[in-house]
Amino acid sequence: TGFVELRDVRLTYGGKADGTLALDGLSMSVKKGEFAAVVGPSGCGKSTLMKLATGLINPQSGTVEVANKEVSGPVSIAGMAFQNPSMLPWRTTLENVMLPLEIVQPHRSRLKSEKKAYIEKAESLLELVGLKGFGDKFPWQLSGGMQQRANLCRALVHDPALLMLDEPFGALDAFTREELWQVMRDLHGEKQFTVVLVTHDLREAVYLADRVFVMSARPGKMINERHVEFARP
Ligand code: ADP
Ligand code: ADP
Repeated sequence: TGFVELRDVRLTYGGKADGTLALDGLSMSVKKGEFAAVVGPSGCGKSTLMKLATGLINPQSGTVEVANKEVSGPVSIAGMAFQNPSMLPWRTTLENVMLPLEIVQPHRSRLKSEKKAYIEKAESLLELVGLKGFGDKFPWQLSGGMQQRANLCRALVHDPALLMLDEPFGALDAFTREELWQVMRDLHGEKQFTVVLVTHDLREAVYLADRVFVMSARPGKMINERHVEFARP
């Protein structure tokens, strides 16, 4: 079975009678180390799929497994970056990026030696996405695109085995976006984590992913699955 495995998942928001059926029997399997992209029309259930796979919500029926374990609560091996950056306003950018390390290793993060390593890790990621020197700025001092890049650093900082990205480059200008695609490709080649990327941008999906999943309009289902074998630049 896959590293991320959804089987016949049904999910309705709100009451059974008057609720919104978001996913109707969705199945999807992403192999360990694979870079998967999910595309589909707005409202088809892509964000719902991401919330299910990270354990933020649970389905009414069907199963969700990550790393061969049934998901019932938040998945701590996952790094997540969603479309709207959600940085804590009272923390600097660097402190926001370091947050997952402090949560995953609360005792170690209090040690001086560890703290130094955490800062270095966060700073090197910020540099990688073009935010060198912005670590001591507060979120409100950054542009939307810069916040989004910092958000991506936060998702990566604890070396997650699974990276869940929901439109992570939406606020970036075309030039910065393509730079970040390259950064993502390099990181994936180096670290071999598993990625699920939701995107509206077919070019982005084809450029980045090994496999592209195509969803139908709501209620969402997988209607197609393609291995990408285009020659990449
Ligand atoms: P996508 O990410 O593909 O745009 P979503 O997963 O956000 O789709 O939404 C799927 C469907 O579920 C849409 O019809 C949306 O309006 C509905 N929906 C999403 N979140 C909620 C919610 N919290 N409460 C009620 N309906 C929701
Ligand atoms: P983005 O495309 O990241 O939203 P903007 O168009 O808002 O960026 O800003 C373009 C560039 O201006 C940024 O990449 C950055 O170099 C610079 N910039 C934006 N906000 C600030 C800031 N608060 N302090 C310093 N430089 C900034």
